[in-house]
Amino acid sequence: MKFPPLRYLTPQSLDEAIALLEQHGADAKLLSGGQSLMPMLAFRLASCSILIDLKFVPGLDRITVTDRGVELGSRVRWRDIEHDVRLPTVQPLLSMAVKHIAHYAIRNRGTVGGSLAHGDPASELPALAVACGATIAIAGPNGRRSLPAEEFFLFPLITALEPNEVIVSLHFPPWPKARSFGFQEFSRRRGDFAMAGAIVFFDQDKDQNICSPHIGAFGIADTPLRLGEAEKFLLGNRAGSRIFEEAAAHGVRNVDVRADIHADSDYRRALLATLVNRALVEAAQRTSP
Ligand SMILES: Cc1cc2nc3c(=O)[nH]c(=O)nc-3n(C[C@H](O)[C@H](O)[C@H](O)COP(=O)(O)OP(=O)(O)OC[C@H]3O[C@@H](n4cnc5c(N)ncnc54)[C@H](O)[C@@H]3O)c2cc1C
Repeated sequence: MKFPPLRYLTPQSLDEAIALLEQHGADAKLLSGGQSLMPMLAFRLASCSILIDLKFVPGLDRITVTDRGVELGSRVRWRDIEHDVRLPTVQPLLSMAVKHIAHYAIRNRGTVGGSLAHGDPASELPALAVACGATIAIAGPNGRRSLPAEEFFLFPLITALEPNEVIVSLHFPPWPKARSFGFQEFSRRRGDFAMAGAIVFFDQDKDQNICSPHIGAFGIADTPLRLGEAEKFLLGNRAGSRIFEEAAAHGVRNVDVRADIHADSDYRRALLATLVNRALVEAAQRTSP
């Protein structure tokens, strides 16, 4: 299908982008990589008459690594993450997850801010942000605010972002040494959105007991989730196949799992349990230096 007629605006600053959003209201949409918005406009799943391209807004395309963690500007592309040699050490899950996103051509243009704002519950980055306790920096006409990722995703494709706000960056907390981590997802074909996915990391105390376990899930519910029940199961226990299997089985039991044309909820729940277990086993074998 062809695109509807569109006016194309190119603000040169964040303030100008926000002012344009204010001025044009529901007629306007921000454009970042265009990898979700353009197909949606073409298929008439979204509508607008004005595109506000963030391409010329300075400072949004930086990856910043400090002792306070990793900050991804909203126009950082998947390929920037893939090619950044620092990230496998300072945020290894990000480097692992990005390889599962779409295909090379899409990773060349798709961005952090677009993925967060789009809010697809099967997307890798929103899930990683929730699992890691990341925060999203947002700018609007009343200044800046910062929101935990866990509070940002409300329903499929619906977030806490106001129509006149712009996502500026995503901040991941520091990643300690000797942390164990795993990432598993299942999709029908490589590059497709995940039917289910699991993100796992934990630390171990001096007696080798698991502390601060984090388990995230995506592709299974209306938003990305933390699997609190599974985390409780692991806490204080020694890493091992029996506790991993139990945590995976119990952790998904009470999750409100959605059904769609690809899988009913029973299948998807069983799939998630398998992926959580595999991610835990992977984590036990994979520890950051
Ligand atoms: C065939 C195909 C397969 C895909 N597979 C996957 C996959 O497996 N996993 C995955 O995660 N994604 C997948 N995607 C989506 C892809 O990763 C997109 O890049 C991603 O959704 C972000 O899109 P974008 O950066 O291109 O943003 P755009 O398409 O430009 O924008 C998306 C939405 O975000 C809004 N927006 C953009 N930037 C901002 C901002 N800074 N502040 C506020 N609002 C903003 C836009 O107005 C729009 O509503 C796939 C896409 C396609 C076409």
